[in-house]
Amino acid sequence: FEPWNDPEAKPLIHFQNVTKRFGEFTAIDNLTIDIYEREFYALLGPSGCGKTTLMRMLAGFENPTEGKIFLAGQDIAPVPPNKRAVNMMFQSYALFPHLSIWENIAFGLKREGMPKHDINDRVEEMLRLTRLEKFARRKPHQISGGQRQRVALARSLAKAPKLLLLDEPLGALDKKLRQDTQFELMDIQEKTGTTFVIVTHDQEEAMTVASRVAVMDHGKIVQVATPDRIYETPNSVYVADFIGDVNLIEGTAKPNGSGTYAMSWHEGQPPLSIQSANGFSDGQKCHLAIRPEKVSISAEKPAAADNAVQGRILDIAYLGNISTYHVELPTGALIKAQAANTRRIARRDFTWEDTVWLSWTATAGVLLAE
Ligand code: ATP
Repeated sequence: FEPWNDPEAKPLIHFQNVTKRFGEFTAIDNLTIDIYEREFYALLGPSGCGKTTLMRMLAGFENPTEGKIFLAGQDIAPVPPNKRAVNMMFQSYALFPHLSIWENIAFGLKREGMPKHDINDRVEEMLRLTRLEKFARRKPHQISGGQRQRVALARSLAKAPKLLLLDEPLGALDKKLRQDTQFELMDIQEKTGTTFVIVTHDQEEAMTVASRVAVMDHGKIVQVATPDRIYETPNSVYVADFIGDVNLIEGTAKPNGSGTYAMSWHEGQPPLSIQSANGFSDGQKCHLAIRPEKVSISAEKPAAADNAVQGRILDIAYLGNISTYHVELPTGALIKAQAANTRRIARRDFTWEDTVWLSWTATAGVLLAE
């Protein structure tokens, strides 16, 4: 499923040079994006970068100051929110407390004037989809937070929108329930075939559920890619740093031919050996971005490693299956390395103050200009 790589595929949503200003302030800055049918598209970015504004324009609560938004090829500017095949599910769920779960789900359908037996069928279908059949007669306060979340989802999907906008849909749930619910959400999205656009602050959540992740910064989208590509080949230090944990080492590049580089990074330290798909000129400033799990930690200097530096363990974060080691280099730099915990803690290989070797291959990280 990669419609974005198919030149024939028509996007369900097309933003064409969309700008949104509030007075002098530019919240969305000349944005052009495509979202395809059946996609689970995640918007990620720091607070205030414009995620909610983008969703509100899709829902019809705001209109672009400049540019156009197309839904299935139609300019949606003249279409009022309630006439758009778009629904928005809010973090608060906004369920009616005095109505039963069944009536909550039926509410929008009744208001639309759908025939009674069709409403019955549709509500039953939504109850089945979200596994809420047993709770149909209860009121929202008589079910759990996770179940309320599913009611909100059932209600948002009842009118069979083409596009469902989810603003922090799992924000109110605790971590364990949240993780289970992510899989449910993916399952429901797949079964209904609805296109989902989700805003979340939780980058792990975005990586779990999304077909593609869009990273935003100051009203612009800086990278859109599948979760694995955005994690493994971020296009900037900003994206590398925003998604997951990363070590950033600054230096200057020296091309050695065939995409290999020697990167000088500190006086007295041998240059780092790096293989890079991104091109750099001699003496160009660059950053090596390397994930902690790509850095190996060992007591002895590895016999054949492209890069090896010695350091001292300052801190250890024990996470059960893995530990993250904070290692201070003689240069003062701090590097994070991750290793699986295969032994009992009393017998583990490394402890505080140990002098260790960190090593990584030439292809373990990405070389970025800025
Ligand atoms: P968060 O993650 O905190 O919800 P966000 O990325 O969703 O943030 P938006 O809510 O889209 O950000 O806001 C983007 C910027 O636009 C913010 O700086 C916000 O203050 C500003 N903004 C949003 N709505 C309005 C408005 N109606 N009037 C003036 N400024 C606004």
